[in-house]
Amino acid sequence: MAKHIFVTGGVVSSLGKGLTSASIGMLLERRGLKVRMQKLDPYLNVDPGTMSPYQHGEVYVLDVGADTDLDLGHYERFTHAPLNRDCNYTTGKIYQSIIQKERKGEYKGKTVQVIPHVTDEIKACIRKVVAPDVDVVITEIGGTVGDIEGMPYFEAIRQFALDAGKHNCLFVHLTLVPYLKAAGEIKTKPTQTSVKELRAIGIQPDVLICRSEREIPEPDCEKIALYSNVERRAVIEERDKEFSIYEVPLSLVENKLDELIVEKLGLAQAKPLRIDDWRAMLDRMRNPAHEVTIGFVGKYVKHRDAYKSVYEALDHAGIVHHSKVRVQRIDSEKLLVEGAAKALGGVDGLLVPGGFDKRGIEGKIEAIRFARETGLPFFGICLGLQCATIEFARNVVGLADANSTEFNKTAPHPVVCLLTEQENVEYVGGTQRLGAYACHLVPGTRAREAYGQDVVRERHRHRYEVNNVYRDQLAAAGLRFSGTSPDGTLVEAIELPSHPWFVAVQCHPEFRSKPTEAHPLFRDFIGASLRHRLGKKKDDEGSRSRVVVTTG
Ligand code: GLN
Repeated sequence: MAKHIFVTGGVVSSLGKGLTSASIGMLLERRGLKVRMQKLDPYLNVDPGTMSPYQHGEVYVLDVGADTDLDLGHYERFTHAPLNRDCNYTTGKIYQSIIQKERKGEYKGKTVQVIPHVTDEIKACIRKVVAPDVDVVITEIGGTVGDIEGMPYFEAIRQFALDAGKHNCLFVHLTLVPYLKAAGEIKTKPTQTSVKELRAIGIQPDVLICRSEREIPEPDCEKIALYSNVERRAVIEERDKEFSIYEVPLSLVENKLDELIVEKLGLAQAKPLRIDDWRAMLDRMRNPAHEVTIGFVGKYVKHRDAYKSVYEALDHAGIVHHSKVRVQRIDSEKLLVEGAAKALGGVDGLLVPGGFDKRGIEGKIEAIRFARETGLPFFGICLGLQCATIEFARNVVGLADANSTEFNKTAPHPVVCLLTEQENVEYVGGTQRLGAYACHLVPGTRAREAYGQDVVRERHRHRYEVNNVYRDQLAAAGLRFSGTSPDGTLVEAIELPSHPWFVAVQCHPEFRSKPTEAHPLFRDFIGASLRHRLGKKKDDEGSRSRVVVTTG
């Protein structure tokens, strides 16, 4: 029978519940247990796919073609737990299902209410991720205890523990223990208040994870334990990590959280913790031999979480090359004003990530032109591939005003156009070409070389594609189609054979990268950027020494 861990949060949002849940999942998995991860989000959108990245950060896409919360990205980077549609529910999705049942008359004349109907539906959602071989299900509740929209979830997990037996469930509550500069003290009151709130709902936390900027002194830990009715050893400090999020699991191990969970849930089948590769990965990260700077020209560059998986994938690739990857976020509108040469002067590679609508497009195209003409390594993702195609069509093929019909419906040369399957799509939510699709790679290309395989499966999230009408013209001018859908009708990857490293893909490879298994395309992009940097340095040194010779 599967055991359940419920992770809730108190005091403030953005405490890193997702990272902590992912870290717990990772530790249990590395103790030989089979884990499943799930996130329940109390907002009314059916999924985060219709929300702007400014609002909710990145939309994380699963193989099965679901738009999900970015915390699922943490789950996949930290664990090997398979994820499907049942791993992310929102209030919108839950109500959608309830209302459908009500319309079908499935409630047999009853008044449909939050308790028991919504809570029953939530409990059913939790049970859906249980499978015969699963040892532990970790369910993270979005938001903060006390939020009005979160109430049914807290009530549902309280009932769930009653149904499943308290000894089969563990409540982990994350709180903030702030340091007040003026008082020169750590404050435990917000944690006490948040636990009180949880207990008023009928949930007694078993473990408190206390996020803190500074070390929490022993008397404060004892105070928290006493007031919260939690054992002292179950009050776990989780200090802010300045270096990397991948340190979180190690700090939880130091505080013996894995042992505590194994003991409290009676997971006798757990094996000793195996975490050496993770430690080795962090050591490599801590001691880089090089540094590379990647110019990142995207629409949402000001929002830290909008390209979460891309930033993580760049870091993973840096680890392979013993390199610290610095990301220089460049506003594409500003780039147009100051010129690509100035904006990209100090970078070793250019990345243009995914995105929607017209804003900033011309700046991205200009940045790509600069990379193509100067031999600067370039990696385009989704919209990045579409912009690279437009740039090539305009400036190499000579199709003035080539564009995507996403940006100009009447473009004289629509080199990027709507996918045929999208033509009659009416609703925006969940209707893009979404999820994992196969791609056939062409032998002898950089993409094929990176992957080391002829056929790969990658995740997609788009409505537009390279227009097949222009394929011959583009190819004749030197653009290589290095990957297509198995039937050859969709362009999945392009590259320039004459360029040191110019590769763009229609998929989102960032969703497949892990800190211990960097994605091959990110790996080779950073490799090329590093070569570019070292080559530049050599040239600089060469020209300096030549100066010395002439003046001497
Ligand atoms: N807007 C483009 C499309 O819909 C690119 C999408 C993306 O980058 N995810 O095809």
